[in-house]
Amino acid sequence: MAKPSRSGIGRIMNEVIRSFRRLCRFVLLLAIVVFVIVAIGNFADRADAQNRFTTLADHKPRPSEPYEIKIAPEPDIYVLSGNMRLSAVSGHPLAVYQETFLARDADPEIQARQYLLAKSEMYGLTTDEIAGLRLHFVRKSEAGTVVRLRQMWKGLPVNKNAEITIHINKANVVDFVMNGYRYGIKLSDAVPAIAAETALLKLADHLGVRSLTGDDTKTELMVLSQVGEDRLVYRVNYASDAPVGDWEAFVDAKTGTLIKVEDIAYYNEGKRQKSLRKRAPRPFSIMASGTGNVFDPDPLTTAVAVYGGSYVDGSDANAAVLTAQLKSRTLNDITLSAGTYSLTGPYAEIRDFEAPNKGLFTQASSTFNFDRNADAFEAVNCYYHIDASMRYLNSTLGLSIMPYQYVGGVRVDPSGLNGADNSHYLSGSGQLAFGEGGVDDAEDADVIIHELGHGLHDWFTVGGISQVNGLSEGTGDYWAGSYSRALGYWPTGNAAYNWTFNWDGHNPFWGGRILNYGVVYPGGLTGAIHTDGQIWATANMKIWNDIGALKSDKAFWSGLDLTNSTTNQNDAANAVYTASATLGYTALERIAMNTRYAAAGYTMPAPPTAAGVSISGRVLTNDGHGLRNASVSITNATGNVVYSRSSSLGYFRFDEIDSGQTYVISVASKRFTFAPRVVNVTGDLSDVEFMPQ
Ligand SMILES: [Zn+2]
Repeated sequence: MAKPSRSGIGRIMNEVIRSFRRLCRFVLLLAIVVFVIVAIGNFADRADAQNRFTTLADHKPRPSEPYEIKIAPEPDIYVLSGNMRLSAVSGHPLAVYQETFLARDADPEIQARQYLLAKSEMYGLTTDEIAGLRLHFVRKSEAGTVVRLRQMWKGLPVNKNAEITIHINKANVVDFVMNGYRYGIKLSDAVPAIAAETALLKLADHLGVRSLTGDDTKTELMVLSQVGEDRLVYRVNYASDAPVGDWEAFVDAKTGTLIKVEDIAYYNEGKRQKSLRKRAPRPFSIMASGTGNVFDPDPLTTAVAVYGGSYVDGSDANAAVLTAQLKSRTLNDITLSAGTYSLTGPYAEIRDFEAPNKGLFTQASSTFNFDRNADAFEAVNCYYHIDASMRYLNSTLGLSIMPYQYVGGVRVDPSGLNGADNSHYLSGSGQLAFGEGGVDDAEDADVIIHELGHGLHDWFTVGGISQVNGLSEGTGDYWAGSYSRALGYWPTGNAAYNWTFNWDGHNPFWGGRILNYGVVYPGGLTGAIHTDGQIWATANMKIWNDIGALKSDKAFWSGLDLTNSTTNQNDAANAVYTASATLGYTALERIAMNTRYAAAGYTMPAPPTAAGVSISGRVLTNDGHGLRNASVSITNATGNVVYSRSSSLGYFRFDEIDSGQTYVISVASKRFTFAPRVVNVTGDLSDVEFMPQ
């Protein structure tokens, strides 16, 4: 009896021990899984944090390259007060949203300087400091004029692009300013203690290359003002084959210390590119029309299908369901030269500047019909979508925007990044490149247009692309979303309606991103640029739904035109809103914009009222009597002028005025001179009195 009993206890014990072991194994497995998830999360966060300070604009977070030395981030501390975003460090405005300075009619640069001189105390700038600002760029458009003044210190540039950016509307009112000035630079002199060659050697040592010489090396002395420390540095830019990279280094020009080394591009075949350039001039060439197969925007969207089943990448293999989604499109203005067609046009140009080097896909026929398995397919897809997007901007929207780094169409390498599952815009050279890992990036128009979005952001700001709060990521996502959504394939109720990268992402390779991100600014910011950019993209896609693609797109880019490298999402929302006034958008459209931005968490001025308001007041003589028959006019942001006459007792009144914008009120009389008045109108405005000067 004892035996079976013992064996019974033993069985129970064995069962308990086995259960315990199973539990242990499970707990161990769980611990490993949790550890891996946390590790991946940390890694992604780190990669994102690092990306904030690179000039690369990747499509997805990317790990740091070997050799890279990054600078600690600049703390972003400010307070919003009235119509300003004030620096908690300097106390001076970083941005002024509803400025009301009326400039005298003059050259835009003179107007911008007039403004800074008038507000020198507010900006904490001396007359000499204002005079020392160098004109970087002036752009005139339908949305007014933008003047970019760059900071110089003893003749040297500061931080590559420290800039005060001033917008002047069509009534000559300075109404929006971004201030990236670096205050109180503490440097004794601009005299380097080491030679430029020594700086080059420092970088050569670091990269383990023998010497840095030739056309691919550029050196510039500049001031680096970062995290409360100012240094005289050499900025070295060196395009290298080994190690592969377009290296940007800051070397302390006094001590020779290497402060920063970053790969800002990839130029595997720099030499080959040069030899291509030196080739004999092309024989007579003409613009021709071609046709080609593309995905428009991607095979899942046109099939209204999600990733899975037959709709998978399958290592770039053809599949009947994917081939069925090829769309035949006209390839506008490609080049025919000596019997060869190349994908080179006024708005896009296929190039081959990154590995893997797959050539230019030129051919004797104007028919570029490939299936997705062919490398040429990505080239055709890039050409078609970039050409279409640039044409839409320049012709349909009338925004006149091209790369500033070179003359001609946007340069794109459809197979780059050493084949990685990523894509990028290179701000140094103004080029785009696409990787082929996972789903080939250039098979998804969302990826192509997102990267082009980075380029456009850089070109509109003339070198002032901003990744503060992931602004540029959200900008690229909006641009991709705007295009895809306009094609109208997804019903609004379908989750994919709010996806970006429907083919490249939202699959086992990568999660993709969304356009209905339910996080509110600024509390919801995570510090990861690709994540945070979704707040900006989401708010703008809601406006897109409210006021339509054309209006939304035009205000979006016209607004980014007012920004620079220090612009955060709050500034950008106010910039777009400001531009919408200069573009003459209706009160209802501007109410929608204001409401969507405010709901996203951005601090906005009071929205316009749906009904028009009135502006009234009185014109007086020197001795305080009413002045009759004086000509009173009000000019809105678009430059549109409405006239009236003062009554016998000097009263005037304007009705049905759009609120939520700035007006210049002027009085003209033969007997007296009156100073014009600039007012932000938020509701009925009465008792506006004019006294002679
Ligand atoms: Zn990106």
